[in-house]
Amino acid sequence: MYPVSFEYHRAGSVDEAVALLSRFGESAKLVAGGHSLLPLMKLRLAEPRHLVDIRRIPGLSGVREEGGALIIGAATPHHVLERSPVVRERLPMLSEAAAQIGDAQVRNMGTIGGSLAHADPAADLPAVMLALGAELVAVGPKGRRALPVDRFFVKLFTTTLSPGELLTEIRVPLPPPGSGGAYAKLPHPASRYAVVGVAAMVTVSGRKITEARVAITGVAAKAVRASATEAALVGQGAEAAVLAAAAERAVEGLTVRSDPRMDPSYWRALTVTYTRRALAAALERAG
Ligand SMILES: Cc1cc2nc3c(=O)[nH]c(=O)nc-3n(C[C@H](O)[C@H](O)[C@H](O)COP(=O)(O)OP(=O)(O)OC[C@H]3O[C@@H](n4cnc5c(N)ncnc54)[C@H](O)[C@@H]3O)c2cc1C
Repeated sequence: MYPVSFEYHRAGSVDEAVALLSRFGESAKLVAGGHSLLPLMKLRLAEPRHLVDIRRIPGLSGVREEGGALIIGAATPHHVLERSPVVRERLPMLSEAAAQIGDAQVRNMGTIGGSLAHADPAADLPAVMLALGAELVAVGPKGRRALPVDRFFVKLFTTTLSPGELLTEIRVPLPPPGSGGAYAKLPHPASRYAVVGVAAMVTVSGRKITEARVAITGVAAKAVRASATEAALVGQGAEAAVLAAAAERAVEGLTVRSDPRMDPSYWRALTVTYTRRALAAALERAG
């Protein structure tokens, strides 16, 4: 199907994008890579009359290290996260996850800001950002604000972004020494979206796990932290038996979304298995 006709606006700056969103209100939508929005428009599930393209705004794409964090521009495409030397060195979990998104075309076009703002329940980067404890920076008509990722995802395809706001950057704190992170994913064989994806970040000191953040995507209506798993890890020895017991708890409090193609008990079992895999790889990287 063809989308309804729309007017295309290429914003030259963040201020111009905000002004265009204010001017056209609910009839406008931002577009970055277009790889989530355009399929919806072709199905007429989204019918914006104005598209505000933010992909070429100078400074909105790229990665830099600053003040103990990686600062990622919201319009940074997935392939940059996959290949950037600084991401590979400082946050290998992020490049590992980006490399598993869709195919080369999707990774060339899709952006981190688009992925987080779209909040698809099977997207990879929401879980990775939860495990990394990122902070999302948004700019809108009332100015700029920082949103902790833990409060960003509300429900299916819904975030705490206000109308007229756009994400401009994602600030990821660099983990302390003794930390390791990993992303384990079972991709859907056709789309490559996560059937289940688990992002784990652990910090080890004196053979004990001192910090753990674990997040799951694909299974519930939004990416969620596995709080019971995290609690079962902190203060414990970095041992296989501890990991296995903690992974079993990944499904505690997890509301499996309804999908006629998936048996919920199989989905839970997959979640436990991929949590165990992500934790084992994260601990190995933590050394
Ligand atoms: C065949 C296929 C396979 C895919 N496989 C995967 C996969 O395996 N894993 C995965 O995670 N994803 C997958 N995707 C999704 C892909 O990663 C998308 O590109 C991404 O989720 C959205 O990014 P985008 O830049 O294309 O956003 P767009 O489609 O341009 O926008 C998506 C939504 O976000 C809004 N938006 C965009 N940028 C911003 C911003 N800076 N601030 C606020 N709102 C914004 C738009 O208004 C729109 O509502 C797949 C997509 C396709 C088509």
